[in-house]
Amino acid sequence: MKKILMLALSLCALAGLAPAGVTVATALAADAGRFDYGLRPERIAENTWVVVGRREDFTTENGGNIVNTAFVATGAGVVVIDTGSSKRYGEQLLAAIASVTDEPVAMVLNTHFHPDHFLGNQAFPADRLFALPATIRGIAADGNAFAENLYRMSGDWMRGTEVVVPPNPLAPGPLRVGRHDFEVLALGGHTEADLALYDRTTGVLFASDLVFNERAPTTPHAHLGNWLSALDRLEATGAALVVPGHGPVSRDGGAIAQTRAYLGWLERTLNDAAERGLDMTEVLALPVPASIRRIALAEAEYRRSVVHLYPAAEQRALARAGQR
Ligand SMILES: [Zn+2]
Repeated sequence: MKKILMLALSLCALAGLAPAGVTVATALAADAGRFDYGLRPERIAENTWVVVGRREDFTTENGGNIVNTAFVATGAGVVVIDTGSSKRYGEQLLAAIASVTDEPVAMVLNTHFHPDHFLGNQAFPADRLFALPATIRGIAADGNAFAENLYRMSGDWMRGTEVVVPPNPLAPGPLRVGRHDFEVLALGGHTEADLALYDRTTGVLFASDLVFNERAPTTPHAHLGNWLSALDRLEATGAALVVPGHGPVSRDGGAIAQTRAYLGWLERTLNDAAERGLDMTEVLALPVPASIRRIALAEAEYRRSVVHLYPAAEQRALARAGQR
């Protein structure tokens, strides 16, 4: 940072700028250091890198760097999977990509409409942005509200971030880019539309937020039954490596099994509680078993999930009682 500052100072001297220019340069240099996400691409397979985020909630300290992004240098351009939580994240991701490959960006995929996965879009050419049709609609409808919410939680990291809606709808099925044979999987359950990308060439599955690893799943737009079915589809790919939306890369399918176990427990807990006629306060107070508690943020996410999902579980229990 010292170097940048000195360069800025000498440029100011060259331009004959008064101390006001120095102040701006100092502030810019300090800013660059303070808002550095420290993104490090980790090579996980041939031509394939992942940038792993922290297993935390959004804070002003992490700036929203809680998400995994990934990219594949196909030989005919880079395919980018998700763009992160802010304009700054997108710019720093683009710089991280350029640090390992000279290939230009060919395609940028937004896996779903949650803000930590698309708010970096601004840094990429808009005509390269792709998503499933329901994701495009979701970003257009709710993107600004999500961005405002993230600004409240992450603060100045978000400065200058604006929603860019992907213009290109993506269809499920085979997708050949350069030397890589991908399969686009149009699934749902975490949200209405969740895009997973399986790279047949390397055996890497980019599972989006359908899979969380060592970090409890979030459920504000979840349908647990659909989500569990989607996990079956992901498992059927037989992928050698699974890149979850959050948490470390999984080499043995363990992340899919862990997500299934967590969601199965959550579904049973909510349904049993509804059958017993518990009210929401009682459900919130239920103990979380040790096997679930060891997953990062499990107790906090369980409570959020009760708020998101328990009213519907109660409705289903009432409907079942009406049929008896
Ligand atoms: Zn999500």
